[in-house]
Amino acid sequence: MNRISHWIDGKVVESTSGRSAAVFNPATGEQSGAVDLASVDEVDAAVAAAKAAFPEWRATSLSKRAEILFRLRELVDANRKEIASLLTAEHGKVLSDSLGEVARGLENIEFACGIPQLIKGEYSEQASSGVDVYSIRQPLGVVAGITPFNFPAMVPMWMFANALACGNTFVLKPSEKDPSVTMFLAGLLAQAGVPAGCFNVVQGDKVAVDRLLEHHDIAAVSFVGSTPIARYIYETGTRNGKRVQALGGAKNHMLVLADADLDMAADAAVSAGYGSAGERCMAISVVLAAHEIADDLVAKIAERLPAIKVGPGEEPGNEMGPLITGEHRDRVRGYVDGAAEGGATVVVDGRTDVPEAGYFLNPTLIDEIRPGMACYDDEIFGPVLGVMRVSGYQEGLDTINASQYANGTAIFTRDGGAARQFQFDVQVGMVGINVPVPVPVSYYSFGGWKASLFGDTHMYGPEGVKFYTQAKVITSRWPDPATSTVDLGFPETR
Ligand code: NAD
Repeated sequence: MNRISHWIDGKVVESTSGRSAAVFNPATGEQSGAVDLASVDEVDAAVAAAKAAFPEWRATSLSKRAEILFRLRELVDANRKEIASLLTAEHGKVLSDSLGEVARGLENIEFACGIPQLIKGEYSEQASSGVDVYSIRQPLGVVAGITPFNFPAMVPMWMFANALACGNTFVLKPSEKDPSVTMFLAGLLAQAGVPAGCFNVVQGDKVAVDRLLEHHDIAAVSFVGSTPIARYIYETGTRNGKRVQALGGAKNHMLVLADADLDMAADAAVSAGYGSAGERCMAISVVLAAHEIADDLVAKIAERLPAIKVGPGEEPGNEMGPLITGEHRDRVRGYVDGAAEGGATVVVDGRTDVPEAGYFLNPTLIDEIRPGMACYDDEIFGPVLGVMRVSGYQEGLDTINASQYANGTAIFTRDGGAARQFQFDVQVGMVGINVPVPVPVSYYSFGGWKASLFGDTHMYGPEGVKFYTQAKVITSRWPDPATSTVDLGFPETR
């Protein structure tokens, strides 16, 4: 049985906690490994290693840090397939999707290679007579990342690339459901030249998370996961004096106006609704269809679903894999059961013809959903797309703005004015215009609003650099000693 352990101070460290969790291949339902679950002492050991490594790492020149990141970029690039197949084996998503995840993660390492440019401060000469003022950005110290199951490679890269580039040392607590990828990445980081102790992985559950949240040597916590846990991380971490960015769950709406290209909208809804079996925080979960075109759009989406190839992620040609666990699959099925009982119309029923082995559910389409139904109100996180019919732009917009979630959204229209108005009006952090999954490129930043993000700073990109550094402002004077006098007045600039 494959045992997945910690990575502390540059090497694999087996847990002595006596606790572990089973890791499964979701395509077969068979256990493929067991992951160690850290004790408090093991978390403390990882934090101590990161703390010890910090002084030397923060003093390492920007050019040297960039050089290491460039090497890491080459190593991740050369190992794309290896990372993707590890990812597929434990997560279940199809290989092409895993490769896409690695590619989008890699973009964050590429961004961080530019750290000498990104971390520049500002300088004001002659702020007062002979006085110059300038700002610098310095690393925080030891920072922690706590990541979800659905992007076991990309989301850690969102965090550690910028955190390390800025001169911090890092402790990662990956999801216990698919932990192997992070151990592989830890090996690549070491190979790239990241010194021992700068990057550590503690495998674990709530015990490890709670220890990180209370540890006085952790300066900041980045979290990505579900909304209830994000709220808990934010509240606990900030109460303990830490800087926290906690990204939560989502319920992303796609508004299709009557003038939209319906084939394009149907393609987009299917791609964004069922890609990665709907287990994406930027998946489209609800299509808001203008009345005039709703019947046509539902028919066009429905006719595309039988063609989706569902099966084990490692088999070439498959387009949609299983869900992460049997328990989650049952929960998703429950939403479909509830929708049918609550008066919605199950147009395509993915509960039938499901392979016996593994945690599969076929693509499901539900029409006539509405607020108040669990399948509308809750994040389902599965291959279930709901359609709600709306009178037009205003009802669609009001529906989106009434949601507690505000991660991503999209509008499909040929009307540039309507799209621009949507971008102005909609209360959501990431917006697509005829783009269904508007995940920002790595040189912008990622983050939702409302219950999709707790904290002030979005993740990765420029805001990532801001999150992982603190500003210092220096006021400096190199006077001629001959002009020095005692003056108890408040310093003035004119
Ligand atoms: P999760 O919240 O269950 O777990 C996330 C992390 O928190 C894991 O490392 C887990 O071990 C830890 N955790 C779980 N329960 C905990 C507890 N009680 N106390 C302390 N730590 C705990 O999320 P998940 O199921 O792994 O991932 C799916 C969720 O993540 C979805 O809600 C999805 O929308 C969200 N997500 C959001 C984004 C985003 O950018 N907003 C991106 C990816 C995923």
